[in-house]
Amino acid sequence: MTRQKRLILDLMRQSPRHMTADEIFAQARQQMPNIARGTVYRNLKLMEQAREIARLEMPQGPDRYDKTSAPHGHLYCDGCGDLQDIPVVGLVKEIESAIGTEVRSYQLTIHYLCPACRAKNAQ
Ligand SMILES: [Zn+2]
Ligand SMILES: [Zn+2]
Repeated sequence: MTRQKRLILDLMRQSPRHMTADEIFAQARQQMPNIARGTVYRNLKLMEQAREIARLEMPQGPDRYDKTSAPHGHLYCDGCGDLQDIPVVGLVKEIESAIGTEVRSYQLTIHYLCPACRAKNAQ
């Protein structure tokens, strides 16, 4: 593993967020000032192909990256674009028992308004 890839993975694992490639690049550059944008993009693509991470297509704006390719659901705020993980193991189990076989993969995004946006709307 190259130093660059190690740094990118560490940054992703330490962040609670799902960052865009540009956000990852900005953070990487703080710790490795001579890292090139292309290097970050190339590493993200390779890691995505190796299923070490996952790329998430967003309803609006650039793709974001997930530190794991293990399946899980997401909560997406239509107001501010905030994205959070939600566990959906129970839901998937229900679907498996309904279809009588194993779910092989899924993408699940629940759209909602986050507490901050709800508070803003209520004003
Ligand atoms: Zn919001
Ligand atoms: Zn996620």
